[in-house]
Amino acid sequence: MNQGRISQVTRRQFLTCASLGAVGLWLAPRHLFAQDGNLVTASRDQGASAKITVQRLRGGVSVLTGSGGNIAVLSGTDGKILIDAGLATSRRRIAEALGGLDANPIRHLLNTHWHYDHTDGNEWLNSAGARIVAQENTRKHLSTATRVEAWDFTFPPSPAGALPTEVFKQDLTLQLNGTTLALKYYGPAHTDSDISVEFTEAEILHTGDTWWNGHFPFIDYSTGGSIGGMIRAAEANIARVTDKTLVIPGHGPAGDKFALIEFRDMLVTIRDKVAALKHRGKSLDETVAAAPTADYDAKWGNFFINGKTFTALVYAGV
Ligand SMILES: [Zn+2]
Repeated sequence: MNQGRISQVTRRQFLTCASLGAVGLWLAPRHLFAQDGNLVTASRDQGASAKITVQRLRGGVSVLTGSGGNIAVLSGTDGKILIDAGLATSRRRIAEALGGLDANPIRHLLNTHWHYDHTDGNEWLNSAGARIVAQENTRKHLSTATRVEAWDFTFPPSPAGALPTEVFKQDLTLQLNGTTLALKYYGPAHTDSDISVEFTEAEILHTGDTWWNGHFPFIDYSTGGSIGGMIRAAEANIARVTDKTLVIPGHGPAGDKFALIEFRDMLVTIRDKVAALKHRGKSLDETVAAAPTADYDAKWGNFFINGKTFTALVYAGV
C-alpha cells in the first residue's frame, strides 16, 4: 500500500466517523431519548419491563422476542442452547420464559455478534451454566472498550464471565440435542463479528443482525460494518436457504426466503439511489432531503431506524 492510498483510507475513515456523528441525531424514537438522552442506556432501562413472547417453531427450536435481538432456544437432553442473550435488565423475565419451556438447564450460549442487545445477558447466563461460543471478533470487542459512534456510546470491557470462552474464525459445527448446529462467519457485514447459526435438520437459520425482517437495519461502521457488507450477507442468506427454510432475523418476526429477497432488493435499490446522489456531489443533508427511501418508509421505517437515518448509514458507505 503506497502513501497516497494510506492517506485516502485515513481520510475516508474520518469522513465516515464525521457522517455518523450526524446519524446520532436521527436515531431512535424520541421517547428513547426522553429519560437520559442515550439510546443504549434508555433501551437497557426499558429491558427491565420488556414483555417476552415465546414462539415455538419446529424441531425443538423456539424464539423469545421482546428483549434486544431475537433469542433462539434449542432444548433437549444436552440442556438449553441459546442463540443470543438479550438485555441483562430482562434477566428475570427471560429466565421465566426459559423455565416455561421445560426444566432443562441452560448449558450453551452462542452470540451472533458483539452488540449489547445480543450479549448483555452473557454474564448471568454464564453464571447460570452456559458456556459461551462466538466468532473471535465478538470476544475482541467485548474484551476491550469499544465505541459505537452512531450510538454516541463507549462500552467498557465486559466482565470475565461475559466473555466467550470458545471462539472460531470461519466455521464451527456443534452436535447437541441430536441436532447439527452449523455456525458460519459472514465476513464484515453489520459488524465484523457476524455469524449465522443453522439448525440443519430442522431447516432453521438464525441470521443475527444481517437481516431485520420488515425494518431498515442498523449498520455499525465503527466495528467493521458497511452497506456493501450487508448486501453481501443478504446474498449469502438467500443462497443458503431453500423454500422450506424458516429464517430467524436479528430483529422482527421469523420469515422465509421470499422475505430475505425482499430485504436484499430494498438494500440494493436504496444503495444505488444514495450512491448516485453522492457521486453527483450531493452532501449528506441534500441526499437526505432527496428522500431516496421514500418508496420504502411506510413499510420499513417504523422501528429503530427511520428512512433519514438509514439514508445516512448508506451514505457513509458509498
Ligand atoms: Zn447488532
